[in-house]
Amino acid sequence: MSGQRDKSGLVGGHDMNRTFVIVGGSIAGLTAAEKLRELTDERIVLVEPDPMRAYDKTALSKDLLIADEMPDIFLRSAAHLDELRIEVRKVSAVALDATGRVVRLSDGSSVSYDRLLIATGASPVIPFPHEADTTIHVVRTHADAEGLRSELRDARRAVVIGGGLIGCEVVSAARHLGVETDIVDSLPGPFQRMLGAAFSQYIEKLQIDAGIATYYGRGVVDVRRGIGDHRFDVELSTGEILHADIIVAGTGVRPETGWLQGSGVDTSLGVVCDSRLSTSLSDVFAAGDVASWPGGPGGELIRLEHWANAAEQGVGAAISMASEKPTGDDWTPGMPHFMTTIHSHRLTVLGHVHGGEIGDPTIHVAVGPNERGLIALYGSADRLVGCATVDQARIAVRLSGLFGRGNSWTESVSIVENHCRIN
Ligand SMILES: Cc1cc2nc3c(=O)[nH]c(=O)nc-3n(C[C@H](O)[C@H](O)[C@H](O)COP(=O)(O)OP(=O)(O)OC[C@H]3O[C@@H](n4cnc5c(N)ncnc54)[C@H](O)[C@@H]3O)c2cc1C
Repeated sequence: MSGQRDKSGLVGGHDMNRTFVIVGGSIAGLTAAEKLRELTDERIVLVEPDPMRAYDKTALSKDLLIADEMPDIFLRSAAHLDELRIEVRKVSAVALDATGRVVRLSDGSSVSYDRLLIATGASPVIPFPHEADTTIHVVRTHADAEGLRSELRDARRAVVIGGGLIGCEVVSAARHLGVETDIVDSLPGPFQRMLGAAFSQYIEKLQIDAGIATYYGRGVVDVRRGIGDHRFDVELSTGEILHADIIVAGTGVRPETGWLQGSGVDTSLGVVCDSRLSTSLSDVFAAGDVASWPGGPGGELIRLEHWANAAEQGVGAAISMASEKPTGDDWTPGMPHFMTTIHSHRLTVLGHVHGGEIGDPTIHVAVGPNERGLIALYGSADRLVGCATVDQARIAVRLSGLFGRGNSWTESVSIVENHCRIN
């Protein structure tokens, strides 16, 4: 069927009666469902196994761990999806038959699609050896965070493995609750991979000042049941043994693509998409943490693990799914960004940041007098492409206005130098 589609999804005045299937009902899947309903009156099916309705995952390692009362982190009302006439299937997708245009579900049933969105996010990985009966906490779902929240309240000593965003947030929460806390990472410092060496050293100092024992540059070689009054021993590559009664891993995630095996979709970097979020299979799209797309500063393929990106891509994918013909310019991604607070210091990360190797020469760091914050600039050729700050959010927002502009590197360095002089 062809023709002009009006706002209610009618093409040439006829209801198209297509079925849109969305697999994954977190932020990317939810925003896609909402946008699709805005664009069409056709059938929308959302497949999501989590028993909770969609919630704010970013709160799982922050407010939810430290708040006295369990906070309400739901994104929408209980009736919301019903009101939008979205059919919800509380099961997992287990396989995709792209030839038959069918998604097979864990309860043995299946659902046929005209257009499919893959929004299955990512799942934690635990890459270090550990005895089978040691409980290693991860933080990805509401249930994970509830379990960690209740154990942290009784814990005396915690070992957190992984110095990325989630590991750093968990050590901050654990210290806030008065738990003796160690952090371990095989890299030389926290946020090293994402933000580089100089930024990393600054964050490590904040952690040490907060009373955290840091064990960077050491791998975990074993986690086993402890002897004596602590539950676990964590053995490091240096031979050091850390004692803990709670262990948390923030050791990265892998895109949730297992169910797509054999479907023919390109999963070489998560689910690979073009700029419309269309995959290598016809009428199959992807959005959020599971998807990569040519969104790098030079148009290279990137996969982000950011809340706002997932929300925006859900909307972008829905626009592509509902449109009859690819226009190539239906969706413009926003600037990658995230913010967090650790040990009462505000981190703001905007644009394309890249840690690279230690001493990456493209990283420029300016620290204001009295160490009232830090500003790191990330450049590509003569252009500013990203920045990261601690307790300097306003200048980060100002700098973001220069991203991608020719000669913006020199201009941004001079803005930062002036700012630090005035401060
Ligand atoms: C603890 C934590 C803290 C974070 N903090 C920040 C932050 O401060 N700032 C920031 O920008 N980002 C943060 N993030 C990242 C952000 O939450 C993610 O980028 C975002 O949730 C990605 O959304 P998504 O919908 O793509 O995937 P997800 O939120 O991972 O959701 C995927 C959904 O798919 C479902 N699913 C998986 N497999 C299947 C299947 N086979 N069948 C059906 N459904 C399936 C899952 O149950 C899940 O509900 C944080 C993430 C976590 C876990």
